Amino acid sequence: MTERLYLSDPYLRRFEAEVLRTRAWQGRTGVVLSRTAFYPEGGGQPADRGTLGGAAVEDVQEVEGEVLHLVAGPGLAGSVAGEIDWARRLDHIQQHHGQHLLSAVFEKRLGARTVSFHLGEASCTIDLDLPAAKLGPERLREAEAACNELVFSDLPVVARELPPEELARLPLRKEAVKGSRVVLVGDPGAPVDASPCGGTHPRRTGEVGAVAVLRAQRWGEGARVEFLCGGRVVAALGAAGERLARAAAALRCAPAEVAEAAARAADESARARKDAERLLAALAEAEAAGLAAGPDGPVVAEVTVPAGPAAGWLRALASALAARGRVAVLGAREGDRAQLCFARPRGPGPSAGEALRAAAAHLGGKGGGSPDLAQGSGAAAGLAEALALGAARMRQG
Ligand SMILES: [Zn+2]
Repeated sequence: MTERLYLSDPYLRRFEAEVLRTRAWQGRTGVVLSRTAFYPEGGGQPADRGTLGGAAVEDVQEVEGEVLHLVAGPGLAGSVAGEIDWARRLDHIQQHHGQHLLSAVFEKRLGARTVSFHLGEASCTIDLDLPAAKLGPERLREAEAACNELVFSDLPVVARELPPEELARLPLRKEAVKGSRVVLVGDPGAPVDASPCGGTHPRRTGEVGAVAVLRAQRWGEGARVEFLCGGRVVAALGAAGERLARAAAALRCAPAEVAEAAARAADESARARKDAERLLAALAEAEAAGLAAGPDGPVVAEVTVPAGPAAGWLRALASALAARGRVAVLGAREGDRAQLCFARPRGPGPSAGEALRAAAAHLGGKGGGSPDLAQGSGAAAGLAEALALGAARMRQG
């Protein structure tokens, strides 16, 4: 049985232990020790990393009640020195304890129970049994403020095994799943929060540093709340500042004016797009007038595209020709592809859709549409032949 040193002292970084045995687990080498400061993954908290006898500890898992240190390289024997990755442990302490405080606040203020907790590489989440609709921005800010009040009050934190009679007296936030270890926040006699937990926690709430609630979203019947604590708040603020600076540089404005500048840029871009559409339509009209001045019969042409995707230009041009009472059999090159668009005036006559399918098939491509207007594409190599084939189809009948 391994003595779990992290339970009594979550600040212990270095320790000595005897290797009890090594065993293979999922193709890796697992080392079982007489004692360990390594926290095995569990309760929403990821495993520690570090070194054991000079070997890197890549993961720590609890398997059939045993703490397995999964190390790189061959197994270990005898006495070994272990050292945990302290930066990672401190991060987990901050996130995990911040989660306890946040869960306590949501339960106390909104009667929302935490049903699960995830401590991820990038962010942390809790799932609440409260509909997300009841967690508007104002409620989230209030919960965040209440949580930070607990942090700034720097309350004592005690995590220990409690005898059954003491356990029975405490208003536990959730039922103990295994063991009788409880994390108490504030005066142990009248705690602000009491929650069964086997994770690593700080000595005082102040060590959490700060809690930032990022967002809430629907999660089944309940809500998923994303948050960050401690060092992650500082890192996130730095990353957000960098993003803001990049956006400000792109918009050529001060960081504080990014929202207004972005809204202005979006408006201008929408206006410019509409202007471009109108100009292209006018240009298509003028081009169609020129093409329609030619001899009777289908207007067959490989055209150049002035701007934008070929398909849009061809459609505008073919429609303008059809509106002038002409059959249009048009194509355009786009790199090594060819775009096709056939149109005809409304009424009886050969189907543009059928003619286009045949022409596109000749290019090894596909396409279709209505009897009045059809579009497709294929390889550019046989474009002239495909247009001739389409024109022949449109002349029949
Ligand atoms: Zn916990």
